[in-house]
Amino acid sequence: MSDNLMHDSPTEFLHNVANTNGECIAQSVIPNNKDTYLVACSCEKWETTAPTREEGLNMARRHTGHLV
Ligand SMILES: [Zn+2]
Repeated sequence: MSDNLMHDSPTEFLHNVANTNGECIAQSVIPNNKDTYLVACSCEKWETTAPTREEGLNMARRHTGHLV
């Protein structure tokens, strides 16, 4: 188990896009340890899991209203 490679955690991602004031500026789709992807948004109010990266991106777009 090499957790050192996982510096790309959602928490760090959200820190990187700090000062967004809860706006949906950026979304992240990050592989989980399992067979799912963790999908998070810069608004910090939205977080879910997706079976694939594409599905995660679709969910993120739907969340931000780009693809309603
Ligand atoms: Zn959001």
